[in-house]
Amino acid sequence: MARVLVVGAGLSGLSVAMEASVRGHHVVVLEKRISIGGRASSESRDGFPIGYGPHFLLKKGPLHSLVNKVSKVKPSTLPLRPHRLEILGRGMMQPRRPMKDAVQYRRAAKAHDFTHPSVQVSNRFASWGLNDAARSRALLDNNLMVLKEGWSGLIGRLAVTLDEVGIPIETDAKVVEIEKHRAHLADGRQVEADVIVLACGYGQAKKLVPELPNVSFVTASTVDAALDATSLGERHGILDMEESMAIFDLKQIHPGIAPAGALLSAIHFGEGKGEDRLFQLQKFMDVRAPGWKSHILHERQQKNVKIAPSSDRIPFGFARKNGVLLTGAWVESNHILSDGAVAASRLAAEHISKMPLQQ
Ligand SMILES: Cc1cc2nc3c(=O)[nH]c(=O)nc-3n(C[C@H](O)[C@H](O)[C@H](O)COP(=O)(O)OP(=O)(O)OC[C@H]3O[C@@H](n4cnc5c(N)ncnc54)[C@H](O)[C@@H]3O)c2cc1C
Repeated sequence: MARVLVVGAGLSGLSVAMEASVRGHHVVVLEKRISIGGRASSESRDGFPIGYGPHFLLKKGPLHSLVNKVSKVKPSTLPLRPHRLEILGRGMMQPRRPMKDAVQYRRAAKAHDFTHPSVQVSNRFASWGLNDAARSRALLDNNLMVLKEGWSGLIGRLAVTLDEVGIPIETDAKVVEIEKHRAHLADGRQVEADVIVLACGYGQAKKLVPELPNVSFVTASTVDAALDATSLGERHGILDMEESMAIFDLKQIHPGIAPAGALLSAIHFGEGKGEDRLFQLQKFMDVRAPGWKSHILHERQQKNVKIAPSSDRIPFGFARKNGVLLTGAWVESNHILSDGAVAASRLAAEHISKMPLQQ
């Protein structure tokens, strides 16, 4: 049994804590903020879970499977439906008529045939520019899901499970430096451990382990807004392929997510300055969701967020000689986004027993 210190209580940190505990290790989680969840948080305001940009769960992916495993009652999910997604300048992603177009779509979706424009759009938007075939197929097959409880519901479920097995999560505990088998906290305390798992995002991990290689990320700007009126009609979303922008109405996708009105989540991903991207995204919303601004109940904007590495992910054991393992969507695994984070956490947890214990 190893004493494991997990730095960060986002999806990566909670999932690695769980996987390590299942393998019999003694685990402690430290989180610098006063609340857990990291980027997978959403804040409930008047019954609307306001998140940090659109998040869709891959049905039966590593995160969905983990959450189902730990939940007595499975989370309520409903899929994004291609026949209710408008591709700007083309019509619906899945045309229903004329019959010829409907048949062509079905054939192309089944074969994931890139010559069909809907497959191209799906490939781009299902993974925010990462062109991940598994998520693209999932979108075309009605398997990219919205959670009734919001993305942070997943965090709640993982946190309850950790609590049940007695794994402490200490919040307001920032790790500022690590050396072999020891972490230094901002309040001056030191914590000793056999293995330190960095689940704190790439930027913070690089500060703690400066020799980590550089990674380039897909970046984005997002707007999340609870409205007291609907603004996309019956559409689940509107996608602009040329500009890499999209607006979704999560309330249309899963009516149980909010009491009334609309819950818009919009994203503009790709290169450029954060403020320009955000400005363009708001202009897009003004045109495509007319009047949205005069119906806002609550709103959150993000100018510049890193979504996921565009290439070159780092192996979980990169700093293993220093007693450090890595996890996150930027760490190598066979999956991407949150599923990548959960998959990397499993790989790191499996490796803990191979790490030397503190003498
Ligand atoms: C716009 C956008 C859209 C996305 N869409 C999807 C999607 O559709 N589907 C999907 O599966 N995924 C999606 N993702 C990815 C998903 O949000 C992330 O992969 C996942 O939330 C990352 O979790 P994490 O725990 O690795 O990192 P984070 O959520 O960043 O958590 C890191 C935690 O570590 C803490 N921390 C940092 N430094 C320290 C320190 N020094 N000491 C202690 N604690 C520290 C932070 O406070 C934070 O709580 C999206 C991401 C973005 C930005």
